Amino acid sequence: VAQTSRGQGQETSGPPRDCPPEPPPEHWEEDASWGSHRLAVLVPFRERFEELLVFVPHMHRFLSRKKIRHHIYVLNQVDHLRFNRAALINVGFLESGNSTDYIAMHDVDLLPLNEELDYSFPEAGPFHVASPELHPLYHYKTYVGGILLLSKQHYQLCNGMSNRFWGWGREDDEFYRRIKGAGLQLFRPSGITTGYQTFRHLHDPAWRKRDQKRIAAQKQ
Ligand code: UDP
Ligand code: MN
Repeated sequence: VAQTSRGQGQETSGPPRDCPPEPPPEHWEEDASWGSHRLAVLVPFRERFEELLVFVPHMHRFLSRKKIRHHIYVLNQVDHLRFNRAALINVGFLESGNSTDYIAMHDVDLLPLNEELDYSFPEAGPFHVASPELHPLYHYKTYVGGILLLSKQHYQLCNGMSNRFWGWGREDDEFYRRIKGAGLQLFRPSGITTGYQTFRHLHDPAWRKRDQKRIAAQKQ
């Protein structure tokens, strides 16, 4: 994981970050207490650079404190087509290869603040970190967006995500159906007491407008 090149004490525009980047402990790669699993953090991305500057040091610190071996993949959509979050996650899955055994689909603007949140290998089934009880905005019970952990084996059982969702929304809801279709059980955090304050959502909808143009019977 690359550290950002921002100098110490330097002020830049954009959202402030709440915890400073810390270098990882020395030789952590060889430290057996970190366990054997490796997480690929898959970040669907386009034109959210200020958020990325906060996200990368925050996540690197957050995961390092939890002793989770990780690699952050920033999946940058460079074309001018509508944003395709799910296709980017599929690309990340393929690009991350065999060096990692589980993934986190991770929005760049959603920062876990509570260190009790579990990001460990989701052995039993997909683990929805940004659960409807904790996400600041989305509270319906089949919601699986924002942050979702899956073993690569389970992601493959679901046949990945659909590549057919362009613009904002629904690709995560369709993935919920894939989880159910694959016969997998969905897990969520328990015992978290910080409610809707569990995450920081770095998202000003006036500045980062959602592409909500609809086509035909999209929901169906
Ligand atoms: N995203 C992006 N650029 C865009 C749209 C979306 O990078 O133009 C990524 C980013 O990781 C973002 C995620 O897709 O956090 C989900 O989009 P958004 O934040 O608009 O959805 P929300 O969950 O806030 O409705
Ligand atoms: Mn957002």
